[in-house]
Amino acid sequence: MLSEFDLIARYFTRSPREAGRIALGVGDDCALLSPSPGMQLAISSDMLVEGRHFFAHADARKLGHKCLAVNLSDLAAMGATPLAFTLALALPQARDEWLEPFSQGMLALADRYGCELIGGDTTKGPLNICITIFGEIAPGAALRRDRAQVGDDIWISGTLGDARLALAAYRKELELDPVALETASERMHRPTPRVELGIALRGIAHAAIDVSDGLSGDLGHILEQSGLGATLDVDALPVGAALAQQPQDLKRRFALNGGDDYELCFSAPSAKHSAVLAAARSAGIAVTRVGVIEAEQGLRLTDAGGAPLQLPLSSFDHFASP
Ligand code: ADP
Ligand code: MG
Repeated sequence: MLSEFDLIARYFTRSPREAGRIALGVGDDCALLSPSPGMQLAISSDMLVEGRHFFAHADARKLGHKCLAVNLSDLAAMGATPLAFTLALALPQARDEWLEPFSQGMLALADRYGCELIGGDTTKGPLNICITIFGEIAPGAALRRDRAQVGDDIWISGTLGDARLALAAYRKELELDPVALETASERMHRPTPRVELGIALRGIAHAAIDVSDGLSGDLGHILEQSGLGATLDVDALPVGAALAQQPQDLKRRFALNGGDDYELCFSAPSAKHSAVLAAARSAGIAVTRVGVIEAEQGLRLTDAGGAPLQLPLSSFDHFASP
């Protein structure tokens, strides 16, 4: 059986690749981080709990990817550049068969964004993974939830709803053919954080959030914090490849309320329309205009013809949801 220190040394200690920014990595009481002069630190934590955020016996490599991806997604939603992260890990057992793929899945994604693992904590207990991530951004440049303005277009990156579709299939609420199930579960287990897009939208977008709990609720946070409302064209929402084959009612509901997509929802002035498209092109991801920010508070839904739509709005809440 591996000891705590063997485990940290074997799976979570590497010589820093970004020696300039990481003055001291894993191994001391604290890590030392040197952000670029004049920059602010952007800091976020996300915890993933077995049985709550992922199924028991989830694939370790995918889990390693996902727990860092959801943290990178928070940096993306702020427009921040990733620097480093810490990993607090409770594990029932120290098993190489789990630790190796878990650390590989996590560190492969970390390398893709030059985001260094600089420390953490390791303890025995029910599987629980908490990452704190550090990014940097120039003062005043962050894409904050409270900065939407009347007349802004509302945009969504990529597609929505496939992760929710996979969850419905796992819960046996519906049946998917094997190809659709594979497509949808890939979105659920291996989300792509839109880091490049968040960075490209600095100075263009006013407000942004990542869609983790469902668009209606997450856009609701922007509206609430900005003290504004919006009209959303539900039929304009870009749906995932698997969800696209489903009936209209399911498409609308899952695109609007489904969580776990980790796309960016952002607002930008209509005069920046072509700048938004250019930013998306440079980041290699499609964006779709789906609505407009208005002074009247609340979220109004329409169909493709502009007629009002009544759809139940729901968003994931750990204490309100079963
Ligand atoms: P402390 O006694 O200060 O809590 P530890 O003995 O827990 O320190 O950790 C020793 C070193 O290993 C520290 O630098 C800590 O940041 C790092 N570390 C512990 N667990 C992890 C982990 N899961 N991933 C990365 N670094 C870790
Ligand atoms: Mg410790």
